[in-house]
Amino acid sequence: MYDIKGNLKKVLADLPSGVRLVAVSKYHPDEFIQAAYDEGQRIFGESHEQELRKKVESLPKDIQWHFIGHLQSNKVKYIAPYITMIEAVDSFSLLCEIDKQAAKNKRIIDVLLELHIAEEETKYGFSPEACRQLFESGEWRQLQHIRICGLMMMASNIDNELQIRSEFRIAKHLFDEYKAHYFASEPSFCECSWGMSHDYHIAVQEGSTMVRIGTAIFGPRIY
Ligand SMILES: *Cc1c(COP(=O)(O)O)cnc(C)c1O
Repeated sequence: MYDIKGNLKKVLADLPSGVRLVAVSKYHPDEFIQAAYDEGQRIFGESHEQELRKKVESLPKDIQWHFIGHLQSNKVKYIAPYITMIEAVDSFSLLCEIDKQAAKNKRIIDVLLELHIAEEETKYGFSPEACRQLFESGEWRQLQHIRICGLMMMASNIDNELQIRSEFRIAKHLFDEYKAHYFASEPSFCECSWGMSHDYHIAVQEGSTMVRIGTAIFGPRIY
């Protein structure tokens, strides 16, 4: 098995204080998650509802699960009872569905809105302008069972460090803008979720508060 405990320690040592780690465990077996758990890790990220459901049943109950993938509206009801954070909300209708299912479960669910800044067309997420419009409309303020805690984004999957850095920087500027305009009195709007195995060193320099790291801890995924 991969030296998960050693890898985890190395990653944690790289993170400035105040930056939290989401250990991305998708496609990895329970034993891998348990190994990281035994080392003290409590936040894990998954991106498939059925896979997550099985893991929730068999793994320790105090794990905080973050849903980090694209979430279909019809799957929200399955994760609403227990999910700690939904990181990649990419439409207002999904936000409404999360609110509805959270209400049914008498919960308030923490969410991040996913920004699309990268060049790839395949990625989900709000354009900066669409995100601004959502906040400007104010309709989200009616949703009593969700709490918008910040933004999530993925930089372009490329080697060009300057390009990656500039995308993180754009995301941070947008976060600051939205914070000042729409969340000035809400300390809970505080999370910048960016940084993955290949770019988290850059992300933390550019204001990330939460990194989502899989491969650097658990090794390559076997699909
Ligand atoms: C899989 C995934 C990650 C982790 O990627 P690694 O390169 O393995 O660190 C991070 N964020 C999202 C949204 C993912 O889907």
